Amino acid sequence: VASIDVLGVRVDDVTMDETIDLIAAMLAAGGVHQIATVNPEFVMAAQNNVAFRATLAATSLSVPDGTGLLHAARWQGKQLRAKVTGIDLTERLAAESATRGWKIFLLGAADGVAAKAAAVLQARYPHCQIVGTWAGSPREPDQAAIAAEIRRTQPEIVLVAYGAPAQDLWIRRYGAELGIKLGIGVGGTFDDLAG
Ligand code: UDP
Repeated sequence: VASIDVLGVRVDDVTMDETIDLIAAMLAAGGVHQIATVNPEFVMAAQNNVAFRATLAATSLSVPDGTGLLHAARWQGKQLRAKVTGIDLTERLAAESATRGWKIFLLGAADGVAAKAAAVLQARYPHCQIVGTWAGSPREPDQAAIAAEIRRTQPEIVLVAYGAPAQDLWIRRYGAELGIKLGIGVGGTFDDLAG
């Protein structure tokens, strides 16, 4: 996968279709994977946050979530072909889960929002495999309850909506021990879906 560097942050040149193919490959390969939906705010936050920078450097994939990054590529004489946003990726994963059986968990946002987002996805993609939702928070006291819920529902993919960098740091910190295969930080996606 070709990529560009924006102030030290890697952004991969992938379309939505390619992203889905790469996700299928990650799930088949095993291990724990992380995808970041990078926007210009991520790049700014990474400048003075070492842990966030390390997390972004270690992702399996960092998709361009925003036209600002497409412009940044052009200023460098390079190209990012497509914008791949958290909400578009979430909808596409819901659609794919209906046929591929990928089990998805929605973590984060305010109380009731992830459940509402799941209901919206369920209505749009009737056979989608949303196996659980939980609000919680990225703070330590909430981790036992989150872990219990994720272990109970056994998702392969966890979409995390705590905003950046908290969501991405959470995936890096807890993804492996929870036995998930893929964590994706999706920002305000659940709020957008819930309306
Ligand atoms: N959020 C949360 N717990 C927190 C902080 C934020 O669940 O401790 C949620 C918030 O409710 C929202 C999401 O994180 O649903 C991120 O929203 P925002 O629009 O700030 O993220 P962005 O898309 O800008 O990364």
